[in-house]
Amino acid sequence: MKRRDFLKAAAGGATALCSVGVAQARPNLEPAENAVGMLFDSTLCVGCKACVAKCKEVNNIPPVIEGNNKAWDSARDLSGDTLNVIKVYKNGTAKLKDAEVNGFCFEKRSCMHCVDPGCVSVCPVTAMRRDLLTGIVTHHADVCIGCRNCMVGCPYNVPQFEYNDAFGQIQKCQMCNQAGVERIDKGQMTGCAEVCPTGATLFGSRKKLLAEAKRRMRLKPGEIYNYPRGDISKPYSYHEKAVPTYQQHIWGEKEAGGTNVMHISAVSFGRLGMPPLGERSAASIAEGVQHTLYNYMALPAIALAGLTYVVRRNTDDDDGGEL
Ligand code: SF4
Ligand code: SF4
Ligand code: SF4
Repeated sequence: MKRRDFLKAAAGGATALCSVGVAQARPNLEPAENAVGMLFDSTLCVGCKACVAKCKEVNNIPPVIEGNNKAWDSARDLSGDTLNVIKVYKNGTAKLKDAEVNGFCFEKRSCMHCVDPGCVSVCPVTAMRRDLLTGIVTHHADVCIGCRNCMVGCPYNVPQFEYNDAFGQIQKCQMCNQAGVERIDKGQMTGCAEVCPTGATLFGSRKKLLAEAKRRMRLKPGEIYNYPRGDISKPYSYHEKAVPTYQQHIWGEKEAGGTNVMHISAVSFGRLGMPPLGERSAASIAEGVQHTLYNYMALPAIALAGLTYVVRRNTDDDDGGEL
């Protein structure tokens, strides 16, 4: 029997199963009951990178020196040694803050703590986990086998592997709540929100952060607003500033099932390098199909049927043949 014949027969069966509607995607997961997250308001970010330095302090990671700047951490992207990075958007003369044309602004990159995370879905050993109560997505190095599926399953290119280390591991932002840190479990806010001088990175319950983001969408450009700093439930101070012209889009409200870390901005998210995502999570589609195919051993049964068919056909063909 040729391998190609077998695969064709098995694939034909699986396709038939899908096409008659037996294999169905499951719905997106819903936000966790007490989901916590962060709201990053790009219009408030001044690019000071206090959040980058604090992230390294909390996670006990050394600075990364890149380019000519030797004075402070100058990491340009996420890596095994950088779990949070501030990037610059520039266009034309880059003179106007938060202008899409001839302007500039800052954008934060760190784990989005997806509501229905692709990294969790593709991890074969549950080394990536989503906390059912808080929605925080954490990586557990003690069970990780280093397959790096999570790097492929993440639409934001967040999990990073320590390629320079012989015993390298996957690294990503754990919302300051991994074993040994547990800031959230102790009632603290995330390190990056704690030090942000303008409230650009704001910590709190996802519901409250989403309501705050929606409030900002409704504000009149030019009016003065007191932006909370730190934790939205108990801000330690306010930052008074004129309201910019926001994009009417809260990134993470719905994208791929939503995220617990949400972004708002005056510059469109396409220009800020966010990936094009629909509302369905990849995890919901992939898992639904997989679970249906394996339900009642359907896929193995189809494979066996295909195998039996091909073997029988080849046996019939061989009748009367010469040795
Ligand atoms: S600390 Fe706040 S203002 Fe400074 S770079 Fe980070 S997010 Fe921006
Ligand atoms: S952003 Fe990537 S690493 Fe973070 S939870 Fe979502 S899929 Fe996982
Ligand atoms: S939540 Fe903690 S680990 Fe994540 S980016 Fe902020 S400081 Fe870093």
